[in-house]
Amino acid sequence: MQIQFDNSYATLPDRFFARVAPTPVAAPRLIKINRALAEQLRLDADWLASPEGVAFLAGQSVPDGADPIATAYAGHQFGHFVPQLGDGRAILLGEVVDRDGQRRDLQLKGAGPTPFSRRGDGRAALGPVLREYIVSEAMAALGVPTTRALAAVLTGDRVQRETMLPGAVLTRVAASHIRIGTFQFFAAREDTDALRHLVDHVIARHYPDAATDPHPARALLARVIARQAALVARWMHIGFIHGVMNTDNMSIAGETIDYGPCAFMDAYNPATVFSSIDQNGRYAYANQPGIALWNLTRLAECLLQLFDPDQPTAIEIAKEILSEFSPAFDAAYTAGMRAKLGLAGHDGDDDLVGEFLQLLAEHEVDFTLAFRRLCDAAEGDAGELRALFTEPAGLDAWLGKWQSRRSGDGAALRKVNPAFIPRNHRIEAAIVAATQGDFAPFETLGTVLARPYDDQPEFAAYAEPPQPEQRVLQTFCGT
Ligand code: AMP
Ligand code: MG
Repeated sequence: MQIQFDNSYATLPDRFFARVAPTPVAAPRLIKINRALAEQLRLDADWLASPEGVAFLAGQSVPDGADPIATAYAGHQFGHFVPQLGDGRAILLGEVVDRDGQRRDLQLKGAGPTPFSRRGDGRAALGPVLREYIVSEAMAALGVPTTRALAAVLTGDRVQRETMLPGAVLTRVAASHIRIGTFQFFAAREDTDALRHLVDHVIARHYPDAATDPHPARALLARVIARQAALVARWMHIGFIHGVMNTDNMSIAGETIDYGPCAFMDAYNPATVFSSIDQNGRYAYANQPGIALWNLTRLAECLLQLFDPDQPTAIEIAKEILSEFSPAFDAAYTAGMRAKLGLAGHDGDDDLVGEFLQLLAEHEVDFTLAFRRLCDAAEGDAGELRALFTEPAGLDAWLGKWQSRRSGDGAALRKVNPAFIPRNHRIEAAIVAATQGDFAPFETLGTVLARPYDDQPEFAAYAEPPQPEQRVLQTFCGT
């Protein structure tokens, strides 16, 4: 079969990437093809699942029209600037145009070393590949902008982590893999010419209406800010914690990218952190909007030269554009929380939201379950919601206020309050089983999470939070 590649990033100047082909593996074996996504990308899922297709997905062969590269980028990692990171284990095969006319990157993650690998082996272990597959597809089903998972394959090789683990390759699909860190790579080198190329490329690809603005670079920053604000608000609505919001992990297109130590919160606590490497809670749940703004400020710094040749003027312009983040985030956050509570939009809604969250925090109630049971309460049955509280008096007082303000009915609330999220303990169980050769739990989890807003009585157990002994308190980077 022919993949209709239409590569644009590889036509940028040479210093944007290194040309490098995937490194062949021992014995490719298919784990899963995402058939619906293949269809959307005009790819033949049956061919992808064939031995020839699986060889391609494992990096054994480079298909006609692909132009494999590892892209260069820099980034602030936990606040510290690293002038050169780059794709150390991911190879961008090229771009295809999907059925909606959207350009999408096809990238193999875990496909072998590149000139950017530093001390890494260029590989991915099965666990992190399955975690990214499960969580990114769950995010898509939840309606959150995200990179997608087209396929996962086993390599037949083992990778050395803390123990020896099965190796795997994920085929990732993204609007693009351009990050804030891509801009930082060139800004750090004072390569204004490259920055101009990058701005033009990103505008043409992701923000075409900025092209006709009298100040395209300024318009670009404003649009990236709007998308990031909306994105992080969506994360907050569903209790998602990205875990590594380094500037190299923030997509310029506003998709959630880089599913490493990410996790969904069970009991509501704004200080929740899962990542084992986030010792200071920099990327805790409640810090995410502030960090997004910090990252966008780093992006603005890269663009100063293009805003105005006079630096003080450029800084004033940047500040003004950046000041749009907080109102944009607040508006998106409030709109989403109103929808979750079925509020039509009045003064005082923020207080009602805040009080509900406060109750969840005080009583350590499961975030997702509480909102889902609120849907039943909207239909007059608050029993299951009350049962989540050891002492429901505070909730009862709140419910009285809420009932007098609410306009959305239970059905409307169920469309925005998911029953099913990729809970850590379920992901861990799927990974443990898969590592022992049993992919059934991974398959089942994918089936459940494809319909997060539907009651699926046969899978009711998947809506439940972990038992104390099932709780996963830490997640680890996918390296
Ligand atoms: P991440 O924490 O996944 O965002 O990765 C940070 C940087 O480390 C990126 O430049 C990755 O390409 C690189 N990296 C992560 N894992 C590996 C690996 N196993 N081999 C080579 N490079 C890696
Ligand atoms: Mg990364």
